[in-house]
This record gives sequence, structure tokens and C-alpha cells, in this order.
Amino acid sequence: MSAMRRYLPVFHDVRGARVLVIGAGAVGARKIEALLAGGARVTVVAKELSPAVADRAARGDLTVLLGTFHPDQMREAELVFAATPDRALNRRVSAEARRRRVPVNVADSPEECTFLLPAVVRGDEFTAAISTSGKNPGAAKALREFLEDHREEISVRLERGRRRKRIAARPGKVYIVGAGPGDPDLLTVRALGLLRSADAVVYDYLVPAEILALAPAGAARICFARRGRTAGHGAVLKQNAIHEAMVRLAREGKSVIRLKSGDPLVFGRGGEEAEHLSREGIPFEIVPGITAAMGCAAAAVLPLTHRDRSSSVTFVAGHETDEKGESTVDWSLLPKDGTLAVYMGVGRVAAIAEDLARAGFPPDTPFAIVENGSRPEQRVVRGILSGLSRLALDSGIRSPAILFVGRTASFLPSENTGESSDEPVAQSG
Ligand code: SAH
Repeated sequence: MSAMRRYLPVFHDVRGARVLVIGAGAVGARKIEALLAGGARVTVVAKELSPAVADRAARGDLTVLLGTFHPDQMREAELVFAATPDRALNRRVSAEARRRRVPVNVADSPEECTFLLPAVVRGDEFTAAISTSGKNPGAAKALREFLEDHREEISVRLERGRRRKRIAARPGKVYIVGAGPGDPDLLTVRALGLLRSADAVVYDYLVPAEILALAPAGAARICFARRGRTAGHGAVLKQNAIHEAMVRLAREGKSVIRLKSGDPLVFGRGGEEAEHLSREGIPFEIVPGITAAMGCAAAAVLPLTHRDRSSSVTFVAGHETDEKGESTVDWSLLPKDGTLAVYMGVGRVAAIAEDLARAGFPPDTPFAIVENGSRPEQRVVRGILSGLSRLALDSGIRSPAILFVGRTASFLPSENTGESSDEPVAQSG
């Protein structure tokens, strides 16, 4: 049996309990305050009282037996605390309490205790208690500090936990859900709740494994896409297969999560899927997500709009969208004084650079490419349009990446964005 296992962690209800505290110095005073806060009926035995305890006594919050300890004082006690500087006295108190089978705690002396007091972190709705069985108070303190530093995150998780109970995917329904740019923390509360209750998940290749792992272990996981297959005849077949799978699974009575990277309605074919489902009479719902442009902008500290730099933002598809391999975007119609966020443009950066130049974007217009935005492998490359194709090539930018164009793209020098200098952040002048 390990020493840790000897101790059963319990939360003892002290409301109305008779508690005897021997010693009213600083250590005793802390215990007395905690006991009074819990509503205990405290009796203190001490030769003298610290000011805080004297104050409490004056207000009638506790009973004071001024003088020395006597075993009879324990007669009605349900808990005993020894907190005097006199070790021999503490030992006597402990022995007497144990003889009477009354739980006892001796400050700074775990071997004299039948129960230990943990290090405690309290929030509005939780109490975390940490113990090292009295062996390593430093470690307990470090853990407590860690929890205190993460108080906000703990509240968010509690909030999520509360909401999750109300959010459950309904059988026979399809939820077209945005998964955000990749970081699981950027899922919406609704997306998380639905995912956790899904019978089947139909997902895109861009959705990372950490997010898929949030679905129940027994849920069916289906992915049709392969990397790079985003256009042409293959894409049509793939899209039909997705439509059929969603309808079949829903008709089988499953709750179906159609999980897409970013937002389902931004270059995500969410509209086509909704159209198909409604044609087939399948109930559906669309759950928005953080689209890549927004996730990447935040990660690179790039304001999509800015009072002095840009008053519009345009989401553009950069890849060839028809069989001829030509862009269907009329680049000359795009605002030159705003921010462009070009999706799916990595394979065509050189052509896009030409398109932009031809459309009249000045060669010194700033750009930024964010690759794998919000993921651990995130990279940011900045420069100006005249150097775009060169830089994209040299830095080996790969999909998924977003290309931002406009004066907002040079908003912050890299040293202020939290990008470390040993990352391959290129600056072109
Ligand atoms: N519906 C998605 C877009 C899907 S199209 C959304 O709203 O974000 C796929 C394109 O999205 C990629 O080619 C890339 O341009 C962009 N993208 C998706 N995730 C990304 C990420 N983590 N970092 C950078 N770009 C990303």
C-alpha cells in the first residue's frame, strides 16, 4: 500500500460541529478562521490570544478557555486541532484525541495527525484540495499556485461542462459544424457539445486528430477527402459521396456531425450540403466556426480592419475553380485600400502575384502568409507584393495557408507579435 493511499480525500461538513482548537497564535488563528467560515462551533484553549482571535472572541463568535489544556475539554469535540509552539503539548493533545477516537490535526507534524489539511484553491463554484500526505508542502504549494494561475481557464471549463449537459445532438439530424482553424480550444461551446454526443462524424481532411478525438470512442468517423483533391471531377464525386453518406446516416437514426474546418459557409460547401439535405427532407442545423482568416489574423496579430489602414476585408478563393484551371475571381474589382484574405492560394502564389500586379495593386503593398494558423506548427511570412512569389517559394509555404494582402499585413513588426526570431519569419524589403 502506498503512503499516499493511506489518506482518503474527504470534504468534512463542519457546519454546527463542535471543534476544539488548542493554541491561538498565527497558525491557530488561520484554522479558526477557516472553521468559522464553515459554520463550526469553535472552542479555543490558549494562554493568550492573537489579536484576530481576541477580536472574534469579543464578538462572541467562539468560546475561549483561557489557560492550559486539559483532556476533559475534549469531551464533546468532533474534531481537534493542536497548533501550539510547544511540541510536547501538541503530542499530548494528539495522544489524548486518538485515545478518544476523535480525529486530530497537529500543525506541521503529519505523524501526529489522523487527518491532514490540504492546500486549497477556491473558486466561485469549486474547491480544489491538494495533498502530498504531508511529505512535500513545497510541491503542494506549487500545485496550488499553478491552479491559481489557471483560475480563468478552470471557470471556462466549468462553464463548458455546464452547457454540455444541455447540448446533445439529436438522432436523425445533421449538424453542419465549423471546427475552427485547428486549435481545439477555438471550437465553439456548441460545436464541442454536439461533437461529444455524436453517433457519426463526417469530416474534412483539414480537421485535426485532436478535434476528432473529442467525439465518443464508439462514433463512426468518415472522411472522403484526400489532400489536394479540391477541384475538378474528383471533387464532384467526393461531394456526392458526402451528400449520400449524410443522408444515409441520418435515415439510420444517427446524429450526424458534418465537421468542417473553419466556418462551414466560407469556402466550405456548407450551402450545397444544406441544399441537398433540405431536398431530401433531412433536418439540419448550421453551427458557425472561426474561419481561417479570423483565426490566422488573430494568431499573427493582423487587424483585418483598422481605422488608419483598412475599412474592408474580402475573403477570396485563390485556387482555380473550374476545369480550365483559371481563377474565377476578377482581381481588378477587389478593393485596393482594404484587406484581402486569400484562401486556397498556396499552389498558385506566383499566378496570384501576377493577377494582383495586373489588377493594379502597387508592388510595395504588404502581404503576410500564415501557414497552419493556430496550430503548433504555425509559421508567418511577411513581405511586399514584389517579393511574394520568391518568398513563398524560398520559405516552402505549404497548405493550409492564408495570404493576407493590404496595409494591415504590415501592422506589427515581428518582434511585437510573439513570433520568436528563430522561426523562419522572412521579411522582404
Ligand atoms: N471553411 C474553411 C475554409 C476551407 S478551404 C474556413 O472557413 O476556414 C481551405 C483553405 O482554408 C486552405 O486552403 C487555407 O487557405 C485555409 N485554411 C484552413 N485552415 C487553415 C489554417 N489553420 N491556417 C491557414 N489557413 C487555413
